[in-house]
Amino acid sequence: MNVRAFFSRRVVTPEGVRPGAVLVEGERILEVVAPDRVPAGAEAQNFGDAAILPGLVDSHVHINDPGRADWEGFYTATRAAAAGGYTLLVDMPLNCLPATTNVAALEAKRKAAQGRCWVDWKAWGGVVAENAGDIDELAGAGVPGFKCFLVHPGIDGFTMVAEEQLRAALPHVARTGLPLLVHAELPGPIESATESLGDADWSRYQTYLQSRPEEAELAAIRLLLSLCREYKFRLHIVHLSASEALAELRAARAEGLPVSVETCPHYLHLKAETIPNGATLFKCAPPIRGRDNCEKLWEGLNDRTIDLVATDHSPCPPEMKRLAEGNFRSAWGGIASLSVALAVMHTEAGTRGHGLRDLARWMGEGPARLAGCQKRKGRIAAGYDADFVVFDSESDFVVSADRLHYRHPVSPYMGEKLRGVVRATYLRGQMVFKDGEFPGEPVGLEYRQ
Ligand SMILES: [Zn+2]
Repeated sequence: MNVRAFFSRRVVTPEGVRPGAVLVEGERILEVVAPDRVPAGAEAQNFGDAAILPGLVDSHVHINDPGRADWEGFYTATRAAAAGGYTLLVDMPLNCLPATTNVAALEAKRKAAQGRCWVDWKAWGGVVAENAGDIDELAGAGVPGFKCFLVHPGIDGFTMVAEEQLRAALPHVARTGLPLLVHAELPGPIESATESLGDADWSRYQTYLQSRPEEAELAAIRLLLSLCREYKFRLHIVHLSASEALAELRAARAEGLPVSVETCPHYLHLKAETIPNGATLFKCAPPIRGRDNCEKLWEGLNDRTIDLVATDHSPCPPEMKRLAEGNFRSAWGGIASLSVALAVMHTEAGTRGHGLRDLARWMGEGPARLAGCQKRKGRIAAGYDADFVVFDSESDFVVSADRLHYRHPVSPYMGEKLRGVVRATYLRGQMVFKDGEFPGEPVGLEYRQ
């Protein structure tokens, strides 16, 4: 088989960023070598100053397919992912119909994905109020872990779990050895905060923010840490927003509990103080909090209490955002960001002394490890899938609808100037995105060991 050599002055490997060539044979990386060590006869391509980053892995995406492909769907979500530098998406088990809470539903998802993916994918299984008996079977059928909600997920059909139901599920989850990803907010503090707001004006962002206090996240995380101690399951906190919880998470890790933590680009970039009233595109749960909170989340990333950054890409038809009335109570909560997440993170990271190596760790290696794909995804190294991104880190662009590529091109980032342009994305050696176009075919597959 032919060896191809991809040169760059900045190849981002686990050992650091250095000039080199990524040697690719078929779908795999053969080796990363110094520029003068490329074998004679290799087919060469030189990206010059543009960096070669590992293909990113997004462990938190709502593809909503089958059943709600009018919200997103495999074709558009994976296309947006390729444009954003992602080469593997892990789909959340809700909003699709059926929800991925048993093996039959997983099979329906496999069918929906067939031949329609521009990047590779995988699906989390759901833990809901009544499916403790399905957990072992889902693990056997190939899910990399499970997701549950401690609060109503904003949509019917995927039930939240109360402590008692969680206790019924946890021995099963622990036995699989797979992680349980938890939406960590408890309903109690949200209900009392909402009640005390009386007839507040729900077109104000502050009203929404006050209705979902940090206390709701904090109380949920305390409960989960005590259950983690008791059942010894792998706990993963999704989309941490409340920085107040970092101290306890830090202590839990020091104690040796198997807990990992994620946050999202929107919590690291957007600030409550600058969200206009009525701007429901900024609604997500837990909410985007204030500037000080954002800084503390960066500290959490910095000291590695937060392991990874995932998008929580959660689109819906624009009508559901209630843009005309701007009501934060009735609008759908969710932010879609697959195509711009890398640029959002790179823009912020650059002002804080973080480099491409950190981005690769937060958005490649970390999510790959969580999803059990760390042997083939998330790194530029020998034996890994030839998934990589050609990233022009020194160019700016303005977020516009034509750069989003997901089904409904709305975004709270619209009009923002961001730093760092994805020039091309390669999936298992094949170019799937180049300068705004999608050459070739949707060759993405379900990731299997
Ligand atoms: Zn989510």
